[in-house]
Amino acid sequence: MITRTLQEIQEMIAGSGLSDRYNELVISGVSTDTRTLCKGNLYIPLKGEKFNGHAFVKDAFAKGAVAALWEKSEPNFPQDVPLIFVDDTLEALQRLASRYREQLSVKIIGITGSNGKTTTKDMTAAILSTQYKVQKTEGNLNNHIGLPLTLLRLEETTEMAVVEMGMSNFGEIELLSNLAKPDAAIITNIGESHMQELGSRDGIAKAKLEIVLGLKEDGVFIYNGDEPLLTTRVQKMNLSQKTLTFGNQNSNDYYPLMVSLKANGTTFTVNQMPDVSFFIPILGKHHVYNALAAISVARFFGISWENIKSGLERLQVTKMRMEIIKGKDGLTIINDAYNASPTSMKAALELLGELTGYEKKVAVLGDMLELGEKEIEFHEEIGRMLNKNIADYILTYGRLGKAIALAAQSSFPEGCVKAYDSKETLAADLARLVSGKDVVLLKASRGMKLEEIIAYLAE
Ligand code: ATP
Ligand code: MG
Repeated sequence: MITRTLQEIQEMIAGSGLSDRYNELVISGVSTDTRTLCKGNLYIPLKGEKFNGHAFVKDAFAKGAVAALWEKSEPNFPQDVPLIFVDDTLEALQRLASRYREQLSVKIIGITGSNGKTTTKDMTAAILSTQYKVQKTEGNLNNHIGLPLTLLRLEETTEMAVVEMGMSNFGEIELLSNLAKPDAAIITNIGESHMQELGSRDGIAKAKLEIVLGLKEDGVFIYNGDEPLLTTRVQKMNLSQKTLTFGNQNSNDYYPLMVSLKANGTTFTVNQMPDVSFFIPILGKHHVYNALAAISVARFFGISWENIKSGLERLQVTKMRMEIIKGKDGLTIINDAYNASPTSMKAALELLGELTGYEKKVAVLGDMLELGEKEIEFHEEIGRMLNKNIADYILTYGRLGKAIALAAQSSFPEGCVKAYDSKETLAADLARLVSGKDVVLLKASRGMKLEEIIAYLAE
């Protein structure tokens, strides 16, 4: 993490007002939250909708902060503590991260896209770690605050950093890309999330493509070549950087030759090295594309095929993303309740359809949130894709989930599709329905907390 004297920090953020006697004090690490602040940190008070971080500055010092920033317009700053004054603390955080990044020799891989950012990040980091000292975004710290904090956590000795870039509107990825100045930029795919703000899928593509704005001249841009909205726009952009594509079509630089879904993960081969069989310990063809993105970037940085194979095998998946849990009597639960968009819900359902060897397949589907005006249509579309080849039973939860059930009803025998308003009733019915030979998929937006159902299915 960043270690600098206060004088250096003041210069880096173009701040003012630090008393000379504090010039040589050293901070290590930055915190914006006194609940997680560590001794030695620089505390940066941010102003949110509900809280003003300036109210916690005293708290920060009590917890061992060495210094704090203070926004000039805020009254009543504390006396006799090391403070650096700035116009805007959020801007100062971003500026500090950007200056720090410029001072490091680390290579940065930036990843955006509608789905699969975190998974691709974890895969990329797993592969690169076989040959380099690697750091990556922790959890989901991927926005205008999380990304600067991620950059400020980098050690000077780190050789490669894999960072996630999220967005919900135009201009956001541009800001993040200019902060991180990536050596490699990846767009995993274009889905439907944030349609509300961006208007259309093409709007989403345009916003994601902002990731090339901060890309280094000698860097590489890697994107999903199956997505016409990306290929058309990229062609017109005439990028000077190297570009690589991945996807299912054999016009891509990297595409799969064979994919085989097993109970404990997915095996596949890649056109560029047909003799090697890769294994990832997660289910679903869509994860093969995430792996291809990770492989493309790894090859650009000279990682051997052998190390790519062993890196992918060792992948640790973040909880609740296609997590396989064993329930009562050996029941298989696929917990994908971390989040949901139409793209990822379709992918999860296709996967359920492809699984074999189970007596009954049950899909428990909840609301996909934040989809804008067409939310009902998106849910109906999911309902229409459902049939007996995908699942034997469909249980939905929530107001929008009901639209899935209504649209699915005609493709199933009576009693096999049911909509619920109560999670408890759903869970109780589900527990009665399933046995140890069955598989249950749980999928909904984070806000629906569908994972609470797991307790009812446990041993
Ligand atoms: P967030 O925006 O919440 O940070 P993310 O882009 O980081 O999401 P992941 O956390 O990797 O994405 O995966 C989220 C969901 O998307 C999971 O349900 C996963 O199964 C699904 N998913 C992952 N990769 C893809 C893909 N390439 N295509 C479609 N769905 C995917
Ligand atoms: Mg993520």
